[in-house]
Amino acid sequence: MTTVPSVHIKLPNGVEYDQPTGLFIDNQFVASSSGKTFPVYSPSTEEKICDLQEADRDDVEIATQSAYKAFKKWSTVEPKVRATALLKLADLIEEEKETLKAIEALDNGKSLFCAGFDVGIVIDYIRSCAGYTNTIDGRTINTGDTHLSYTRREPLGVCGQIIPWNFPLLMWSWKIGPALATGNTVVLKPASATPLSALYAASLAVKAGIPPGVIQIVPGSGRKCGDAILRHPLIKKIAFTGSTAIGRDVMIAAAESNLKKVTLELGGKSPNIVFNDADLDTTVQHLIAGIFFNSGEVCCAGSRIYVQEGIYDKLLAKFKEEVEKLKVGNPFEEGVFQGAQTTPDQFESVLSYIEKGKAEGAKLLTGGNRIGNKGYFLEPTVFIDCDDDHTIVKEEIFGPVAAVCKFKYIDEVIERANNSEYGLASGIHTTDINKALDVSQRLEAGICWINTYNDLHHQVPFGGYKESGIGREMGSEALDNYTQIKAVRIKITRKNE
Ligand code: NAP
Ligand code: MG
Repeated sequence: MTTVPSVHIKLPNGVEYDQPTGLFIDNQFVASSSGKTFPVYSPSTEEKICDLQEADRDDVEIATQSAYKAFKKWSTVEPKVRATALLKLADLIEEEKETLKAIEALDNGKSLFCAGFDVGIVIDYIRSCAGYTNTIDGRTINTGDTHLSYTRREPLGVCGQIIPWNFPLLMWSWKIGPALATGNTVVLKPASATPLSALYAASLAVKAGIPPGVIQIVPGSGRKCGDAILRHPLIKKIAFTGSTAIGRDVMIAAAESNLKKVTLELGGKSPNIVFNDADLDTTVQHLIAGIFFNSGEVCCAGSRIYVQEGIYDKLLAKFKEEVEKLKVGNPFEEGVFQGAQTTPDQFESVLSYIEKGKAEGAKLLTGGNRIGNKGYFLEPTVFIDCDDDHTIVKEEIFGPVAAVCKFKYIDEVIERANNSEYGLASGIHTTDINKALDVSQRLEAGICWINTYNDLHHQVPFGGYKESGIGREMGSEALDNYTQIKAVRIKITRKNE
Protein backbone atom coordinates (compact mmCIF):
# COMPACT_ATOMS: atom_id res chain seq x y z
CA MET A 1 0.00 0.00 0.00
CA THR A 2 1.36 3.41 -0.97
CA THR A 3 1.06 6.09 1.65
CA VAL A 4 -0.24 9.53 0.65
CA PRO A 5 0.75 12.87 2.18
CA SER A 6 -1.49 15.19 4.20
CA VAL A 7 -2.44 18.65 2.97
CA HIS A 8 -1.79 21.70 5.11
CA ILE A 9 -5.00 23.63 5.78
CA LYS A 10 -5.34 27.17 7.13
CA LEU A 11 -8.74 27.70 8.69
CA PRO A 12 -10.55 31.06 8.76
CA ASN A 13 -10.15 31.33 12.55
CA GLY A 14 -6.36 31.05 12.33
CA VAL A 15 -6.14 27.34 13.20
CA GLU A 16 -3.73 25.45 10.94
CA TYR A 17 -3.43 21.69 10.68
CA ASP A 18 -2.39 18.80 8.45
CA GLN A 19 -5.38 16.99 6.97
CA PRO A 20 -4.76 13.32 6.11
CA THR A 21 -6.05 12.54 2.62
CA GLY A 22 -5.59 8.77 2.35
CA LEU A 23 -7.74 5.82 3.31
CA PHE A 24 -6.86 4.83 6.88
CA ILE A 25 -5.87 1.16 6.85
CA ASP A 26 -3.48 -0.60 9.25
CA ASN A 27 -2.68 2.75 10.91
CA GLN A 28 -1.47 4.29 7.65
CA PHE A 29 -2.99 6.79 5.24
CA VAL A 30 -2.86 5.03 1.89
CA ALA A 31 -3.84 5.46 -1.75
CA SER A 32 -7.00 3.83 -3.06
CA SER A 33 -6.54 0.72 -5.23
CA SER A 34 -8.21 2.43 -8.18
CA GLY A 35 -6.19 5.64 -7.78
CA LYS A 36 -9.48 7.55 -7.73
CA THR A 37 -9.97 10.65 -5.60
CA PHE A 38 -13.00 12.81 -4.79
CA PRO A 39 -13.34 16.48 -3.83
CA VAL A 40 -14.53 17.71 -0.44
CA TYR A 41 -16.31 21.06 -0.21
CA SER A 42 -17.07 23.64 2.40
CA PRO A 43 -20.81 24.38 2.46
CA SER A 44 -20.34 27.88 3.83
CA THR A 45 -18.19 29.00 0.87
CA GLU A 46 -19.03 26.30 -1.75
CA GLU A 47 -15.27 26.10 -2.34
CA LYS A 48 -13.21 22.93 -2.55
CA ILE A 49 -11.18 22.15 0.59
CA CYS A 50 -9.09 19.24 -0.76
CA ASP A 51 -9.22 15.92 -2.62
CA LEU A 52 -9.33 12.61 -0.76
CA GLN A 53 -8.59 9.07 -1.86
CA GLU A 54 -11.84 7.29 -2.71
CA ALA A 55 -12.41 3.79 -1.39
CA ASP A 56 -14.40 1.23 -3.32
CA ARG A 57 -15.03 -2.51 -3.10
CA ASP A 58 -11.33 -3.54 -3.41
CA ASP A 59 -10.32 -1.16 -0.62
CA VAL A 60 -13.10 -2.43 1.64
CA GLU A 61 -11.65 -5.91 1.06
CA ILE A 62 -8.17 -4.80 2.13
CA ALA A 63 -9.52 -2.84 5.11
CA THR A 64 -11.67 -5.75 6.27
CA GLN A 65 -8.77 -8.21 6.05
CA SER A 66 -6.70 -5.85 8.15
CA ALA A 67 -9.47 -5.53 10.76
CA TYR A 68 -9.97 -9.30 10.75
CA LYS A 69 -6.29 -9.89 11.44
CA ALA A 70 -6.21 -7.33 14.26
CA PHE A 71 -9.32 -8.75 15.92
CA LYS A 72 -7.52 -11.88 17.20
CA LYS A 73 -5.25 -9.85 19.47
CA TRP A 74 -7.45 -6.82 20.29
CA SER A 75 -10.31 -9.07 21.42
CA THR A 76 -8.14 -10.98 23.89
CA VAL A 77 -5.96 -8.30 25.52
CA GLU A 78 -6.64 -7.38 29.14
CA PRO A 79 -9.38 -4.73 29.39
CA LYS A 80 -6.89 -2.25 30.84
CA VAL A 81 -5.00 -2.21 27.52
CA ARG A 82 -8.12 -1.03 25.71
CA ALA A 83 -8.95 1.40 28.53
CA THR A 84 -5.48 2.98 28.43
CA ALA A 85 -5.67 3.56 24.68
CA LEU A 86 -9.20 5.00 24.80
CA LEU A 87 -8.29 7.32 27.69
CA LYS A 88 -5.29 8.53 25.76
CA LEU A 89 -7.45 9.06 22.67
CA ALA A 90 -9.91 11.15 24.71
CA ASP A 91 -7.00 13.22 26.08
CA LEU A 92 -5.65 13.83 22.56
CA ILE A 93 -9.10 14.85 21.29
CA GLU A 94 -9.34 17.26 24.22
CA GLU A 95 -5.90 18.69 23.44
CA GLU A 96 -6.91 19.14 19.80
CA LYS A 97 -10.41 20.38 20.58
CA GLU A 98 -10.02 23.69 18.73
CA THR A 99 -8.72 21.97 15.60
CA LEU A 100 -11.52 19.42 15.61
CA LYS A 101 -14.20 22.08 16.15
CA ALA A 102 -12.79 24.06 13.24
CA ILE A 103 -12.66 21.00 10.95
CA GLU A 104 -16.35 20.35 11.66
CA ALA A 105 -17.21 24.01 10.99
CA LEU A 106 -15.28 23.95 7.73
CA ASP A 107 -16.50 20.62 6.37
CA ASN A 108 -20.05 20.41 7.73
CA GLY A 109 -20.88 24.14 7.84
CA LYS A 110 -22.05 24.08 11.46
CA SER A 111 -21.14 27.01 13.72
CA LEU A 112 -18.12 26.73 16.00
CA PHE A 113 -20.64 27.07 18.84
CA CYS A 114 -22.44 23.89 17.75
CA ALA A 115 -19.17 22.10 16.95
CA GLY A 116 -18.03 22.78 20.52
CA PHE A 117 -21.06 20.91 21.84
CA ASP A 118 -20.20 17.90 19.63
CA VAL A 119 -16.54 17.72 20.60
CA GLY A 120 -17.43 18.03 24.30
CA ILE A 121 -19.63 14.95 24.12
CA VAL A 122 -17.03 13.09 22.05
CA ILE A 123 -14.43 13.57 24.79
CA ASP A 124 -16.80 12.53 27.58
CA TYR A 125 -18.08 9.57 25.63
CA ILE A 126 -14.70 8.13 24.62
CA ARG A 127 -13.63 8.48 28.26
CA SER A 128 -16.70 6.66 29.50
CA CYS A 129 -16.03 3.89 26.95
CA ALA A 130 -12.60 3.45 28.55
CA GLY A 131 -14.41 2.93 31.86
CA TYR A 132 -16.83 0.43 30.32
CA THR A 133 -13.93 -1.87 29.32
CA ASN A 134 -13.91 -3.39 32.80
CA THR A 135 -17.67 -3.82 33.03
CA ILE A 136 -18.07 -6.34 30.20
CA ASP A 137 -19.03 -9.13 32.57
CA GLY A 138 -21.20 -12.20 32.31
CA ARG A 139 -23.11 -13.74 35.22
CA THR A 140 -23.16 -17.01 37.11
CA ILE A 141 -26.49 -18.78 37.06
CA ASN A 142 -27.68 -21.04 39.85
CA THR A 143 -28.82 -24.24 38.13
CA GLY A 144 -28.24 -26.48 41.17
CA ASP A 145 -25.11 -28.29 42.39
CA THR A 146 -24.80 -30.61 39.42
CA HIS A 147 -23.36 -27.89 37.13
CA LEU A 148 -21.53 -24.62 37.06
CA SER A 149 -23.38 -22.36 34.61
CA TYR A 150 -22.14 -18.95 33.59
CA THR A 151 -22.13 -16.52 30.71
CA ARG A 152 -19.40 -14.56 28.95
CA ARG A 153 -19.93 -11.45 26.84
CA GLU A 154 -17.77 -11.80 23.75
CA PRO A 155 -17.08 -9.33 20.94
CA LEU A 156 -18.62 -9.92 17.52
CA GLY A 157 -15.58 -9.50 15.26
CA VAL A 158 -15.17 -6.95 12.49
CA CYS A 159 -17.90 -4.30 12.65
CA GLY A 160 -18.96 -2.23 9.63
CA GLN A 161 -20.03 1.28 10.53
CA ILE A 162 -21.61 3.84 8.20
CA ILE A 163 -22.17 7.37 9.45
CA PRO A 164 -23.94 10.52 8.18
CA TRP A 165 -22.88 14.13 7.62
CA ASN A 166 -24.77 15.98 10.33
CA PHE A 167 -22.53 15.05 13.30
CA PRO A 168 -19.39 13.62 11.64
CA LEU A 169 -17.08 13.37 14.67
CA LEU A 170 -19.83 12.69 17.20
CA MET A 171 -21.09 9.72 15.15
CA TRP A 172 -17.47 8.52 14.76
CA SER A 173 -17.24 8.38 18.56
CA TRP A 174 -20.65 6.75 19.07
CA LYS A 175 -19.58 3.98 16.69
CA ILE A 176 -15.90 3.52 17.48
CA GLY A 177 -16.07 3.97 21.29
CA PRO A 178 -18.26 1.01 22.25
CA ALA A 179 -16.91 -1.22 19.45
CA LEU A 180 -13.33 -0.84 20.66
CA ALA A 181 -14.22 -0.98 24.36
CA THR A 182 -15.74 -4.42 23.86
CA GLY A 183 -12.83 -5.80 21.79
CA ASN A 184 -14.14 -5.46 18.25
CA THR A 185 -12.32 -3.96 15.28
CA VAL A 186 -13.98 -1.64 12.75
CA VAL A 187 -14.26 -0.58 9.14
CA LEU A 188 -15.98 2.82 9.17
CA LYS A 189 -17.28 4.81 6.21
CA PRO A 190 -17.83 8.50 6.85
CA ALA A 191 -20.33 10.46 4.73
CA SER A 192 -18.81 11.67 1.45
CA ALA A 193 -19.86 15.22 2.32
CA THR A 194 -17.99 15.32 5.65
CA PRO A 195 -15.09 12.87 5.81
CA LEU A 196 -12.35 15.15 7.21
CA SER A 197 -12.74 14.81 10.99
CA ALA A 198 -12.96 11.01 10.84
CA LEU A 199 -9.53 10.85 9.17
CA TYR A 200 -7.98 13.42 11.49
CA ALA A 201 -9.32 11.63 14.58
CA ALA A 202 -7.84 8.40 13.18
CA SER A 203 -4.41 10.05 13.23
CA LEU A 204 -4.98 10.73 16.94
CA ALA A 205 -5.88 7.06 17.45
CA VAL A 206 -2.40 6.12 16.17
CA LYS A 207 -0.82 8.51 18.70
CA ALA A 208 -3.03 7.03 21.42
CA GLY A 209 -1.48 3.61 20.81
CA ILE A 210 -4.47 1.90 19.21
CA PRO A 211 -2.84 -0.95 17.28
CA PRO A 212 -2.81 -1.25 13.47
CA GLY A 213 -5.97 -2.82 12.05
CA VAL A 214 -8.24 -1.95 14.96
CA ILE A 215 -9.70 1.11 13.17
CA GLN A 216 -10.12 1.43 9.37
CA ILE A 217 -11.62 4.57 7.79
CA VAL A 218 -12.75 4.23 4.18
CA PRO A 219 -14.22 7.40 2.67
CA GLY A 220 -16.15 6.56 -0.48
CA SER A 221 -19.61 6.54 -1.98
CA GLY A 222 -22.50 4.87 -0.21
CA ARG A 223 -23.54 2.94 -3.30
CA LYS A 224 -20.11 1.31 -3.84
CA CYS A 225 -17.99 1.48 -0.70
CA GLY A 226 -20.99 1.45 1.67
CA ASP A 227 -22.62 -1.46 -0.11
CA ALA A 228 -19.35 -3.44 -0.04
CA ILE A 229 -19.29 -3.05 3.75
CA LEU A 230 -22.92 -4.13 4.05
CA ARG A 231 -22.27 -7.31 2.09
CA HIS A 232 -18.80 -8.39 3.22
CA PRO A 233 -18.87 -11.92 4.67
CA LEU A 234 -16.15 -11.23 7.26
CA ILE A 235 -18.09 -8.28 8.69
CA LYS A 236 -20.35 -9.61 11.43
CA LYS A 237 -22.17 -6.48 12.46
CA ILE A 238 -23.33 -3.29 10.86
CA ALA A 239 -24.11 -0.06 12.67
CA PHE A 240 -25.73 2.58 10.48
CA THR A 241 -26.90 6.14 11.08
CA GLY A 242 -28.69 7.96 8.29
CA SER A 243 -31.93 8.02 6.35
CA THR A 244 -34.74 5.55 6.89
CA ALA A 245 -34.63 4.65 3.19
CA ILE A 246 -30.99 3.49 3.35
CA GLY A 247 -31.70 1.89 6.76
CA ARG A 248 -34.08 -0.47 4.95
CA ASP A 249 -31.36 -1.25 2.38
CA VAL A 250 -28.98 -2.04 5.24
CA MET A 251 -31.35 -4.68 6.60
CA ILE A 252 -31.88 -6.17 3.15
CA ALA A 253 -28.12 -6.37 2.49
CA ALA A 254 -27.52 -7.90 5.92
CA ALA A 255 -30.19 -10.51 5.24
CA GLU A 256 -28.89 -11.25 1.73
CA SER A 257 -25.28 -11.64 2.87
CA ASN A 258 -24.41 -13.25 6.22
CA LEU A 259 -27.22 -12.07 8.54
CA LYS A 260 -25.10 -9.38 10.14
CA LYS A 261 -26.37 -8.05 13.45
CA VAL A 262 -27.90 -4.68 12.60
CA THR A 263 -28.29 -1.52 14.62
CA LEU A 264 -29.92 1.50 13.00
CA GLU A 265 -30.29 5.11 14.01
CA LEU A 266 -32.61 6.70 11.50
CA GLY A 267 -34.87 9.65 11.05
CA GLY A 268 -37.45 11.32 13.21
CA LYS A 269 -40.26 13.85 13.34
CA SER A 270 -40.24 14.43 17.04
CA PRO A 271 -43.09 16.15 18.90
CA ASN A 272 -42.19 18.97 21.29
CA ILE A 273 -45.26 19.71 23.44
CA VAL A 274 -45.93 22.94 25.31
CA PHE A 275 -48.68 23.00 27.94
CA ASN A 276 -50.51 26.11 29.18
CA ASP A 277 -48.60 26.05 32.49
CA ALA A 278 -45.10 25.99 30.90
CA ASP A 279 -42.54 28.61 31.84
CA LEU A 280 -42.68 30.84 28.78
CA ASP A 281 -39.13 32.19 28.57
CA THR A 282 -37.24 28.95 29.20
CA THR A 283 -39.61 26.96 26.99
CA VAL A 284 -38.97 29.28 24.05
CA GLN A 285 -35.22 28.70 24.45
CA HIS A 286 -35.76 24.93 24.49
CA LEU A 287 -37.93 25.10 21.38
CA ILE A 288 -35.11 27.01 19.67
CA ALA A 289 -32.50 24.47 20.80
CA GLY A 290 -34.90 21.73 19.67
CA ILE A 291 -35.27 22.82 16.07
CA PHE A 292 -32.49 25.27 15.21
CA PHE A 293 -29.48 23.65 16.92
CA ASN A 294 -27.04 22.28 14.31
CA SER A 295 -28.95 24.14 11.57
CA GLY A 296 -31.88 21.78 12.16
CA GLU A 297 -29.84 18.85 10.81
CA VAL A 298 -30.62 16.70 13.82
CA CYS A 299 -32.39 13.34 13.69
CA CYS A 300 -34.06 14.03 17.06
CA ALA A 301 -35.01 17.65 16.23
CA GLY A 302 -38.18 18.85 17.91
CA SER A 303 -39.68 19.69 14.54
CA ARG A 304 -43.40 19.17 15.34
CA ILE A 305 -44.27 21.73 17.98
CA TYR A 306 -47.66 21.30 19.70
CA VAL A 307 -48.78 24.29 21.76
CA GLN A 308 -51.85 24.29 24.02
CA GLU A 309 -54.42 26.92 23.05
CA GLY A 310 -54.22 28.94 26.30
CA ILE A 311 -50.56 29.86 25.77
CA TYR A 312 -50.49 29.70 21.95
CA ASP A 313 -50.54 33.41 21.03
CA LYS A 314 -48.27 34.57 23.85
CA LEU A 315 -45.73 31.81 23.21
CA LEU A 316 -45.61 32.39 19.47
CA ALA A 317 -45.04 36.12 19.91
CA LYS A 318 -42.03 35.40 22.14
CA PHE A 319 -40.82 32.56 19.90
CA LYS A 320 -40.85 34.86 16.85
CA GLU A 321 -38.98 37.58 18.74
CA GLU A 322 -36.27 35.17 19.94
CA VAL A 323 -35.92 33.29 16.63
CA GLU A 324 -35.38 36.56 14.79
CA LYS A 325 -32.46 37.33 17.12
CA LEU A 326 -30.55 34.17 16.10
CA LYS A 327 -27.38 34.99 14.21
CA VAL A 328 -26.96 32.97 11.01
CA GLY A 329 -23.86 33.02 8.82
CA ASN A 330 -20.12 32.34 8.70
CA PRO A 331 -19.64 29.37 11.06
CA PHE A 332 -16.30 30.79 12.23
CA GLU A 333 -17.73 34.14 13.30
CA GLU A 334 -18.16 34.93 16.99
CA GLY A 335 -21.81 34.83 18.10
CA VAL A 336 -23.07 32.85 15.09
CA PHE A 337 -25.54 30.18 16.21
CA GLN A 338 -26.60 28.71 12.88
CA GLY A 339 -24.14 27.99 10.08
CA ALA A 340 -24.73 26.59 6.59
CA GLN A 341 -26.79 23.56 5.59
CA THR A 342 -24.32 20.79 4.83
CA THR A 343 -25.05 19.73 1.26
CA PRO A 344 -26.56 21.42 -1.81
CA ASP A 345 -29.10 18.59 -2.09
CA GLN A 346 -30.21 19.03 1.48
CA PHE A 347 -30.38 22.80 1.01
CA GLU A 348 -32.66 22.40 -2.03
CA SER A 349 -34.75 19.82 -0.24
CA VAL A 350 -35.38 22.15 2.74
CA LEU A 351 -36.32 24.99 0.38
CA SER A 352 -38.80 22.72 -1.40
CA TYR A 353 -40.40 21.79 1.95
CA ILE A 354 -40.78 25.50 2.71
CA GLU A 355 -42.59 25.95 -0.62
CA LYS A 356 -44.82 22.95 0.18
CA GLY A 357 -45.64 24.44 3.57
CA LYS A 358 -46.80 27.67 1.94
CA ALA A 359 -48.68 25.88 -0.85
CA GLU A 360 -50.58 23.62 1.59
CA GLY A 361 -51.75 26.59 3.65
CA ALA A 362 -49.49 26.72 6.71
CA LYS A 363 -48.87 30.30 7.88
CA LEU A 364 -45.29 31.56 7.81
CA LEU A 365 -44.50 33.24 11.14
CA THR A 366 -40.89 34.04 10.30
CA GLY A 367 -38.10 33.06 7.89
CA GLY A 368 -38.58 31.08 4.71
CA ASN A 369 -35.73 32.47 2.61
CA ARG A 370 -32.18 31.78 1.55
CA ILE A 371 -29.61 34.17 3.02
CA GLY A 372 -27.07 35.58 0.52
CA ASN A 373 -26.09 33.81 -2.68
CA LYS A 374 -22.90 32.02 -1.65
CA GLY A 375 -23.04 29.18 0.86
CA TYR A 376 -26.13 27.22 1.88
CA PHE A 377 -27.58 29.58 4.47
CA LEU A 378 -31.24 29.61 5.42
CA GLU A 379 -33.35 31.79 7.67
CA PRO A 380 -34.63 29.99 10.75
CA THR A 381 -38.19 29.29 9.67
CA VAL A 382 -41.39 28.83 11.67
CA PHE A 383 -44.76 27.78 10.25
CA ILE A 384 -47.80 28.11 12.50
CA ASP A 385 -51.45 27.01 12.42
CA CYS A 386 -50.34 23.75 10.80
CA ASP A 387 -52.65 20.76 10.29
CA ASP A 388 -51.52 17.23 11.05
CA ASP A 389 -51.87 16.27 7.40
CA HIS A 390 -49.54 19.00 6.13
CA THR A 391 -46.42 17.52 4.55
CA ILE A 392 -44.21 19.70 6.78
CA VAL A 393 -45.86 18.12 9.86
CA LYS A 394 -45.55 14.55 8.61
CA GLU A 395 -42.16 14.34 6.89
CA GLU A 396 -38.65 14.82 8.24
CA ILE A 397 -37.28 18.07 6.77
CA PHE A 398 -33.83 17.93 8.38
CA GLY A 399 -33.34 21.67 8.34
CA PRO A 400 -34.21 24.82 10.32
CA VAL A 401 -37.97 24.60 9.80
CA ALA A 402 -40.47 24.27 12.66
CA ALA A 403 -44.13 23.34 12.16
CA VAL A 404 -46.37 24.55 15.00
CA CYS A 405 -49.81 23.05 15.68
CA LYS A 406 -52.40 24.08 18.27
CA PHE A 407 -54.06 21.60 20.67
CA LYS A 408 -56.69 21.63 23.43
CA TYR A 409 -56.56 18.42 25.53
CA ILE A 410 -53.85 16.10 26.90
CA ASP A 411 -55.31 12.90 25.42
CA GLU A 412 -55.68 14.67 22.09
CA VAL A 413 -52.05 15.81 21.92
CA ILE A 414 -50.72 12.40 22.94
CA GLU A 415 -52.68 10.74 20.15
CA ARG A 416 -51.50 13.33 17.62
CA ALA A 417 -47.89 13.15 18.84
CA ASN A 418 -47.86 9.36 18.52
CA ASN A 419 -49.46 9.42 15.09
CA SER A 420 -46.15 9.05 13.22
CA GLU A 421 -44.10 6.18 11.86
CA TYR A 422 -41.16 7.70 13.72
CA GLY A 423 -40.43 7.49 17.45
CA LEU A 424 -37.01 8.91 18.17
CA ALA A 425 -37.45 11.74 20.67
CA SER A 426 -40.10 13.88 22.36
CA GLY A 427 -40.31 16.98 24.51
CA ILE A 428 -42.72 18.10 27.25
CA HIS A 429 -42.87 21.59 28.73
CA THR A 430 -44.94 22.01 31.88
CA THR A 431 -44.51 23.04 35.52
CA ASP A 432 -46.80 20.19 36.65
CA ILE A 433 -44.65 17.16 37.54
CA ASN A 434 -47.62 14.82 37.50
CA LYS A 435 -48.57 15.85 33.98
CA ALA A 436 -44.95 15.57 32.83
CA LEU A 437 -44.61 12.00 34.16
CA ASP A 438 -47.98 10.85 32.88
CA VAL A 439 -47.38 12.22 29.37
CA SER A 440 -43.79 10.94 29.24
CA GLN A 441 -45.05 7.41 29.92
CA ARG A 442 -47.55 7.61 27.08
CA LEU A 443 -45.32 9.02 24.33
CA GLU A 444 -43.91 6.52 21.85
CA ALA A 445 -40.30 7.69 21.70
CA GLY A 446 -36.85 6.44 22.67
CA ILE A 447 -36.12 9.58 24.67
CA CYS A 448 -38.35 12.07 26.42
CA TRP A 449 -36.96 15.47 27.43
CA ILE A 450 -38.91 17.31 30.12
CA ASN A 451 -38.39 21.08 30.35
CA THR A 452 -35.31 20.73 28.14
CA TYR A 453 -34.54 19.49 24.61
CA ASN A 454 -31.68 18.01 22.58
CA ASP A 455 -30.11 17.49 25.98
CA LEU A 456 -27.82 14.56 25.14
CA HIS A 457 -25.62 13.00 27.81
CA HIS A 458 -22.97 10.37 27.21
CA GLN A 459 -24.33 8.10 29.97
CA VAL A 460 -27.92 8.24 28.75
CA PRO A 461 -28.97 5.80 25.99
CA PHE A 462 -30.19 7.23 22.70
CA GLY A 463 -32.18 5.48 19.98
CA GLY A 464 -35.55 5.07 18.38
CA TYR A 465 -38.94 3.41 18.72
CA LYS A 466 -40.78 2.33 15.60
CA GLU A 467 -39.12 3.26 12.27
CA SER A 468 -36.58 5.52 13.97
CA GLY A 469 -34.22 2.66 14.58
CA ILE A 470 -33.02 -0.50 16.26
CA GLY A 471 -30.70 -0.58 19.28
CA ARG A 472 -29.36 2.13 21.55
CA GLU A 473 -26.20 4.22 21.42
CA MET A 474 -24.34 5.76 24.38
CA GLY A 475 -24.82 4.61 27.96
CA SER A 476 -24.04 1.04 28.99
CA GLU A 477 -26.81 -0.06 26.58
CA ALA A 478 -24.51 0.63 23.60
CA LEU A 479 -22.29 -2.24 24.72
CA ASP A 480 -25.11 -4.71 24.00
CA ASN A 481 -24.81 -3.86 20.29
CA TYR A 482 -21.20 -5.00 20.26
CA THR A 483 -21.24 -8.17 22.38
CA GLN A 484 -22.79 -11.58 22.13
CA ILE A 485 -23.52 -13.91 25.00
CA LYS A 486 -21.87 -17.29 25.32
CA ALA A 487 -23.34 -19.62 27.93
CA VAL A 488 -20.94 -22.11 29.50
CA ARG A 489 -22.23 -25.11 31.44
CA ILE A 490 -19.87 -27.46 33.24
CA LYS A 491 -21.00 -30.75 34.73
CA ILE A 492 -19.81 -31.38 38.27
CA THR A 493 -19.35 -34.99 39.22
CA ARG A 494 -19.37 -35.99 42.89
CA LYS A 495 -16.82 -38.69 43.74
CA ASN A 496 -16.08 -40.17 47.13
CA GLU A 497 -12.37 -40.96 46.86
P1 NAP B 1 -28.06 8.65 3.66
O1 NAP B 1 -28.12 8.49 2.19
O2 NAP B 1 -28.82 7.70 4.50
O3 NAP B 1 -26.50 8.66 4.06
C1 NAP B 1 -25.99 8.22 5.28
C2 NAP B 1 -24.74 7.39 5.05
O4 NAP B 1 -25.09 6.21 4.32
C3 NAP B 1 -23.66 8.07 4.23
O5 NAP B 1 -22.40 7.67 4.70
C4 NAP B 1 -23.92 7.53 2.84
O6 NAP B 1 -22.82 7.60 1.97
C5 NAP B 1 -24.28 6.11 3.15
N1 NAP B 1 -25.03 5.43 2.08
C6 NAP B 1 -25.83 5.98 1.15
N2 NAP B 1 -26.34 5.03 0.34
C7 NAP B 1 -25.84 3.85 0.76
C8 NAP B 1 -25.99 2.51 0.32
N3 NAP B 1 -26.76 2.19 -0.71
N4 NAP B 1 -25.33 1.55 0.99
C9 NAP B 1 -24.55 1.85 2.05
N5 NAP B 1 -24.36 3.10 2.49
C10 NAP B 1 -25.01 4.09 1.88
O7 NAP B 1 -28.54 10.07 4.06
P2 NAP B 1 -28.41 11.41 3.19
O8 NAP B 1 -28.83 11.22 1.77
O9 NAP B 1 -27.07 11.89 3.40
O10 NAP B 1 -29.55 12.28 3.85
C11 NAP B 1 -30.90 12.07 3.45
C12 NAP B 1 -31.83 12.20 4.61
O11 NAP B 1 -31.45 11.29 5.64
C13 NAP B 1 -31.81 13.54 5.31
O12 NAP B 1 -32.60 14.45 4.65
C14 NAP B 1 -32.34 13.18 6.66
O13 NAP B 1 -33.73 13.14 6.63
C15 NAP B 1 -31.80 11.79 6.89
N6 NAP B 1 -30.60 11.78 7.73
C16 NAP B 1 -30.71 11.29 8.98
C17 NAP B 1 -29.61 11.29 9.80
C18 NAP B 1 -29.68 10.79 11.21
O14 NAP B 1 -28.87 11.20 12.04
N7 NAP B 1 -30.56 9.87 11.51
C19 NAP B 1 -28.39 11.78 9.36
C20 NAP B 1 -28.28 12.26 8.04
C21 NAP B 1 -29.42 12.23 7.25
P3 NAP B 1 -22.62 8.90 1.04
O15 NAP B 1 -22.29 9.99 1.95
O16 NAP B 1 -21.50 8.59 0.15
O17 NAP B 1 -23.91 9.13 0.35
MG1 MG C 1 -18.03 19.08 3.29
